[in-house]
Amino acid sequence: MRLNSIKVPHLKASADVRSSSIKLPEKVVIAMSQHGGVPCKPLVSVGDDVKTGQLIGDSDAGFSAPIHSSVTGRVTGMTKVLNVFGVVHEALVIETVPNQILSEEVRPPVINSREDFIAAIKRSGSVGLGGAGFPTHIKFSYDPAETEIDTLIINGAECEPYITSDHRAMLEEGEKIVDGARKIQEYLGIKRAVIAVEANKPDAIRNLTGLTAEYPDIDVMTLRPAYPQGAEKVIIHSVTGRVVRKGDLPSSVGCVVLNCSTAAFISDYLNTGVPLIKRRVTIDGNIVNKPRNLIVPIGTRACDMIKAADVRVAPDRAIFGGPMMGISFYDEEMPITKTTNALLLFSDTKKSHHNACIRCGRCIRACSMGLMPTELDRAFDKKDVELLKKLNVDMCMNCGACSYVCPAKRNLSERNQLAKMFLRDQLQQKK
Ligand code: SF4
Ligand code: SF4
Repeated sequence: MRLNSIKVPHLKASADVRSSSIKLPEKVVIAMSQHGGVPCKPLVSVGDDVKTGQLIGDSDAGFSAPIHSSVTGRVTGMTKVLNVFGVVHEALVIETVPNQILSEEVRPPVINSREDFIAAIKRSGSVGLGGAGFPTHIKFSYDPAETEIDTLIINGAECEPYITSDHRAMLEEGEKIVDGARKIQEYLGIKRAVIAVEANKPDAIRNLTGLTAEYPDIDVMTLRPAYPQGAEKVIIHSVTGRVVRKGDLPSSVGCVVLNCSTAAFISDYLNTGVPLIKRRVTIDGNIVNKPRNLIVPIGTRACDMIKAADVRVAPDRAIFGGPMMGISFYDEEMPITKTTNALLLFSDTKKSHHNACIRCGRCIRACSMGLMPTELDRAFDKKDVELLKKLNVDMCMNCGACSYVCPAKRNLSERNQLAKMFLRDQLQQKK
């Protein structure tokens, strides 16, 4: 049985272009919330000098990930930024100096046990680089006495239009992806790893198949191109046929899923000790002359990327992330975070008008989670808490497939996000 999915245009103009770096920005803006979970508290103050890789934000909470300076410079201010979850958080402004120095704190971790490995991954600041931003060490922190994990899935689906940062990682850092997968298998005792890639990336499949030829416990699996093939529950079903039930984690069906760029980062970190301070970001859109991937320090502002991007005219719409799941933003001072996989820039985009639902059912047939977006839309209109619960609004992953197929152009995915926040508020008030 296949889960519902839709076809979206590929539009990956940067897939064949080698990634490049940008000139060191004059300043970076590093948000204290770069992940799902508890935001960090700043560990440095205005006026402090910081070095590249230095720890500058942390939290006592387990469900969090530390934050490191991506540059050498001086903290010159505190500001507020909007994160991908639509919440405003504190951010440190760091002005760079020409002489970039790696912090003395940076050294490869010493690992003698599973616990050492998980603690090191936490210290690295690793989060899912595919966009969801789940702290990586949490995925590894299951109790092996109670939970048996038999499959590590390395997610190379990258099914959203335009984005190619994972595709380029699979071509440019294939060795690191394989090494990261092997280290995770070794330290967590996972017998089988599967690197799952959509069939529309044949060069990545060829590269990884060659690199894994000598490792019988790592398979490269070709996935049918479909949206949202890269969503965690969908890729688990595609690779293993297993279904993650409502409210359960992938570990409940014996799987850990990790984005391929995250696996490459883990390999790098274990070898060098350099924490998560930079990432690959696709820059594309109808005003970008040379779509490509830029490797930039975390905290690089959109304006610095736009300067490096060779754009024809000023954008009238900018999106962090893909066209299906990304967020539009209005301020070019907004910085990239650990979860930003793309910056899309458009001009002359058509404004669509919402119409009344014609009850065609396309949104229901599009939903891989088996939800009824049109009914959720109505339940949210009525602010019907019980009905929203019954219709499982909390299972919506805001993939945007329902909005994409809706002939009435209803903002179903966006409204589900609001409905989830509304439901959470209502349930908290009842406590
Ligand atoms: S946004 Fe939510 S409701 Fe719509 S298709 Fe995706 S998972 Fe289903
Ligand atoms: S796709 Fe749009 S018009 Fe069709 S049932 Fe869903 S909400 Fe209504």
